[in-house]
Amino acid sequence: MKNVNSKEVSVLVSGPFNEPFDYVLEDKNTNFNVGQIVLVPFGKRKIVGVIIGDGTKTIPETKLKTVLKVYDLDPLPKPSIELMNFVASWYCVTRGLVLKMILSPIEAITSPDFEKVYKINIHNENEIKITNKRKLVLDFLLNLDIGKPQNDIIEQTGVSKAILRDMAKKKLIQEKKVYKTLKLNPYFLKNSKENKKNYDFLNLEQKFSVDKINDSIIKTKSDCFLLDGVPGSGKTETYFETVRTCLDQGKQALILLPEIILTTDWEKRFLKKFSFAPLVWNSGITKKKKKKIWLSALNGSAGVIVGARSALMLPISNLGLIVVDEEHEQAFKQEENVRYNARDMAIYRSTRSSSPIVLASATPSLETFYNAKNGKYIHLSLPKRATGATLPHIKLIDLTAHPPGTGKWLSPLLVGELENKLNNKEQSLLFLNRRGYAPLSICNSCGDKIKCVNCDTWLVDHRSKNILVCHHCGYSRIFENICKKCGVEGQIKACGPGVERIEEEIKEIFPKARLIVLSSDTMNNHKMLNDTVEKIKNNKVDIIVGTQMIAKGHDFPNLKLVGIVDSDIGLSGGDLRASERTFQVLQQVSGRSGRHSKKEEDKGVVLIQTFDTQNPIINAISKNNRNEFFDKELVSRQYANMPPYGRLASIILSSRLERKLEIYSLKLLKLAPFFKNVKIFGPAPAPIYFLRGRFRRRFLIKSDKNVNIQDVILNWTSKINTPNHIKLTIDIDPFSFM
Ligand SMILES: [Zn+2]
Ligand SMILES: [Zn+2]
Repeated sequence: MKNVNSKEVSVLVSGPFNEPFDYVLEDKNTNFNVGQIVLVPFGKRKIVGVIIGDGTKTIPETKLKTVLKVYDLDPLPKPSIELMNFVASWYCVTRGLVLKMILSPIEAITSPDFEKVYKINIHNENEIKITNKRKLVLDFLLNLDIGKPQNDIIEQTGVSKAILRDMAKKKLIQEKKVYKTLKLNPYFLKNSKENKKNYDFLNLEQKFSVDKINDSIIKTKSDCFLLDGVPGSGKTETYFETVRTCLDQGKQALILLPEIILTTDWEKRFLKKFSFAPLVWNSGITKKKKKKIWLSALNGSAGVIVGARSALMLPISNLGLIVVDEEHEQAFKQEENVRYNARDMAIYRSTRSSSPIVLASATPSLETFYNAKNGKYIHLSLPKRATGATLPHIKLIDLTAHPPGTGKWLSPLLVGELENKLNNKEQSLLFLNRRGYAPLSICNSCGDKIKCVNCDTWLVDHRSKNILVCHHCGYSRIFENICKKCGVEGQIKACGPGVERIEEEIKEIFPKARLIVLSSDTMNNHKMLNDTVEKIKNNKVDIIVGTQMIAKGHDFPNLKLVGIVDSDIGLSGGDLRASERTFQVLQQVSGRSGRHSKKEEDKGVVLIQTFDTQNPIINAISKNNRNEFFDKELVSRQYANMPPYGRLASIILSSRLERKLEIYSLKLLKLAPFFKNVKIFGPAPAPIYFLRGRFRRRFLIKSDKNVNIQDVILNWTSKINTPNHIKLTIDIDPFSFM
């Protein structure tokens, strides 16, 4: 890493700044590294920042402020700084905002815990009597270049703190204060050869994949792999073997998982495999723990970190492998502040540390599928279930031919199959991706649909709590059966099904069945979800009614029927990825069925209720024909010049002042650039025009693939002064079009 020799340094501070500021270092004789974290005065405040280079020498030294503190931490690794620069330029945000994410949790920097470390002072030439106790310490520290923490020495040799202090005073040993990190994983401490376990239990395709990835780890090649396996094909077991190789190389591994899949069940599998727990980074862990993981990432002692999206920002100093599990998940895209996609940025991050990255999925995103097809990514395929189980039998239920009763949602065919499974003491899962009781309430007297006060959305009936809730802004009110518009009482009717309503229907038909509803309303913390998953595994539940929370990651051995209550939801959404996403969710849910059924007669069953049996998505699923469906989707994307063939970006404008927003957005339109290969649509009212009390308009920018869409947008928006009441957000590679 480059040393900054000058007294003047360039410091990037965390916050809304893109350019660094010059400061002076007090200590002339010390060399500071790029990446060193410092505290600097900024106006009347003090801010944490990072030295990113020499000073610019554009301001006389006497006018520069002095760095207040250089934190006694390792500098941020170079790849972290490169990632910061890249994220900022790709997503059109300031570098300081990305730095803020990297430096979170800030407590790790401002108040790390320290411990005393002692090592032998080899330069000591004084003649000092070596007592027995002193000899114990010296023997213990012999050949340890980095020394040992005070507590370890006391524990191992039985000497007191006072003796160590005295020995340091007499210069027999050196005392150093270092920040406390987690203990090294046992893996790092053992000889790697004795840890080398064979992986004969894997099938041929799994072994082939492991060998390919391992080869890249060992040769430090930043290859990108798509690990493409049907549900239950053992993707996790496969990448675990590559994590092992990464550890054997003395390097750190990062596993990114959508938060809802990061359960104790996953952790248990890891623990069973490696005999130590991974460091878990998610929204649920304490500040204290975050601090420790952050510091351990920085000093290299954290072997395996598994985390949600934000774990990508950890300053991992010795990265050897990244795994992005369920890579197609929308959860990797952050939709606020810095709108980045952790999966895409992880690919960049891997190139900076010359380490491979594995994108794992049973239903890859179309972009990833395309890159694998074109040879940009290395396609590794796991076509069989690892348990040797057969794939489930998928049947469509035509709702026009076999309709549910009035006010009901389950076809008699589905009810019949549920009964079969109950009689066989097997489990069933009914999937409906709608929380609450009903997505809409209508007044039968005046036809009014009950809307949110802050948004252009319908309030969702959550009958179990007797409230109406807006799923966009969180607004809620008590349900009263009086129309606020016409004042008529008792005429408000629920429209359409939510999971609670399906629960009600099942209770009526099978009053004795043990039933559980799994949605973010009923499972509002990790513990509850984990407990419920255990209950299902232990056969204490007969029927599960769930939203997409249950769609993935879980392995329920006795689950033999999956019923998809409404497969038509999502097909009419109309955004770019609507059909891709519907396909992914439906295929994942289907994959829950019969994961351990080895015999033909014991095969898992999937029943899909639909009004549109000819729909290409439903058909592709029922025929298990993913690639054909993907190929067709790609053709239509190519025809429309949409990603992955073209590029997309959005500009979202919002304000509390409707008229002024309209005027501003028209002004912006007038300044829009003209390029042959860039098309600008809008300003259109956003699909949810009124959200959280703000009016919203959107521009959609579509370009050829080779266009620097970021430059086009930044040049354009820099031509206008944006008043304070307007918020202008740029969304590159958008996922949400609401
Ligand atoms: Zn009414
Ligand atoms: Zn709302």
